[in-house]
Amino acid sequence: MLRTGEQYREGLKDGREIWIDGERVKDPTTHPAFKPIVDAKARMYDIQFDKQYDANLFSYADGADRNPVLLKRPTVQQDWWDKWNAIDAYFKDIKGVVTRVGDETIGEMWSLFDGRDVLNKIDPRFAANIDNHIERVLREDLFHVSANTDPKGDRSVRPQDQDPDMMVHVVKETDKGIIIRGAKYETAAAYADQAFLKPTVGAWSDEKLSDYAVGCIVKMGAPGVKHICRSGFAGRGSKEDYPLSNQFDEVDTLMVLDDVLIPWEDVFFHRYTEGARFIRSTLHRYSAFPYVLRVLYTADMMIGAAMWNCKQTGLDKMQSVKEKLADMVAYREGIRAHLAASIALAEKSPGGLLMPNQSLLYAGRIHACSNLPQVMHIARELCGGQLCVTPNEAAFRNEGTKGWLEKFYSLNQNWQSDDRRKLLAFARDLLNSDYAGHRLTFVQFAQAPHFNHLAALYGSFDFSGPLDLVKKCADLSDRVDAKVSPAAPVRSAA
Ligand SMILES: Cc1cc2nc3c(=O)[nH]c(=O)nc-3n(C[C@H](O)[C@H](O)[C@H](O)COP(=O)(O)OP(=O)(O)OC[C@H]3O[C@@H](n4cnc5c(N)ncnc54)[C@H](O)[C@@H]3O)c2cc1C
Repeated sequence: MLRTGEQYREGLKDGREIWIDGERVKDPTTHPAFKPIVDAKARMYDIQFDKQYDANLFSYADGADRNPVLLKRPTVQQDWWDKWNAIDAYFKDIKGVVTRVGDETIGEMWSLFDGRDVLNKIDPRFAANIDNHIERVLREDLFHVSANTDPKGDRSVRPQDQDPDMMVHVVKETDKGIIIRGAKYETAAAYADQAFLKPTVGAWSDEKLSDYAVGCIVKMGAPGVKHICRSGFAGRGSKEDYPLSNQFDEVDTLMVLDDVLIPWEDVFFHRYTEGARFIRSTLHRYSAFPYVLRVLYTADMMIGAAMWNCKQTGLDKMQSVKEKLADMVAYREGIRAHLAASIALAEKSPGGLLMPNQSLLYAGRIHACSNLPQVMHIARELCGGQLCVTPNEAAFRNEGTKGWLEKFYSLNQNWQSDDRRKLLAFARDLLNSDYAGHRLTFVQFAQAPHFNHLAALYGSFDFSGPLDLVKKCADLSDRVDAKVSPAAPVRSAA
């Protein structure tokens, strides 16, 4: 069933406890820090009904109902192309890039679906919960976020040997469910419906049973859930000067869990560390795809900003400038190639779904995330120093300064000062603002840190090809052992 934007907004008015800048937020749908991003997410709902788009672009028929394309469990290659097309149309519609709007986090639930047989063997009590929740997300068109990262405290000691709340844990079992305590860092939690909470595999990972091994659904308005948000970027400058900060800031939350009751029907695994470890190792097998796809659009924005600037100033005629633009394009095409190839060579998952080719997808995630800082710097360099010295829009309007700015920012007949100002404001917000710095860190961490990306690739690449090749070429004997040691256990990773 498809939800409307209004139904989504109404769902946020559940009395949830949100704090920002020392202020209790009464209504996230109207608060200035949240309204723009709530509107962007609401548009994702409303666009499903928008007659200007093909009815099958954002939703598909499921019996008498229609469900969102972006939340559909992928079973054939076309499902992945459909998701790509839907995101493409949505970004063009909102004129920006947002990441944590649901389609990028729902994949974690599909990983859980793949793992349900393993989890059921470990502890069969929660067998039906996984299927029920997967169905519920589709039926109710829910906005899911991801709760992985604990504050963790001192990583060198076990959580039990410090303040135990540094990592989320179960404090009590009751007839109704489990009571959990702790905290998680979560983008978009304050304006989402629910989160899939699972552990950071930490210093307890060699134990068989642990109160820290818990996976469940947390409702964002449940009693005891407190959202303590970082400051927003919206409103720090005008929309004319900071167009991205003011529309697409995805506010992050320290979500405190102060003895929160999780009903038994929302629990996926509990106490068995084997289950927790298993889920961690497969977590991003789907969600890495939409995550990397976002970076493709960021790359396009950087190329577009740099290229428009070079066209405005005539620098695009210079060979050395063309080479820098080509470097940016190589980065961009590298992302696209990994994504397209991961669909073309997609693999059946243990649960019967179709997952993007894992080795290619994880290699693409490393390419996209770890090279972003360099490419961002090339774009910044090509935009030149005017990026950070250009006066604000108010100065372009004020009678005392207007004439001077029109004179120095008008380049020729086609490039008048207003377009030059707009391009520089866009590029500044993309490359040089507080928001730009935040987004760069987001890409480096929000799905997992770099060491975790490397571990995922190491764990999914088939080393037998290179080993066999060298064995043959170097004429090694059959005595040599081709077994590859498994990926190191992932500690402190989202
Ligand atoms: C903008 C933003 C949004 C986020 N959104 C979410 C979200 O929605 N949901 C969520 O769950 N989390 C989210 N996170 C949290 C993110 O996943 C964590 O920042 C990440 O897992 C790293 O944890 P940490 O920050 O505690 O760093 P630490 O664990 O302190 O690690 C810091 C650095 O130490 C090194 N290091 C630590 N451990 C190892 C190791 N085992 N091997 C090698 N090197 C290591 C690495 O260089 C690492 O980058 C977000 C983070 C940011 C910045």
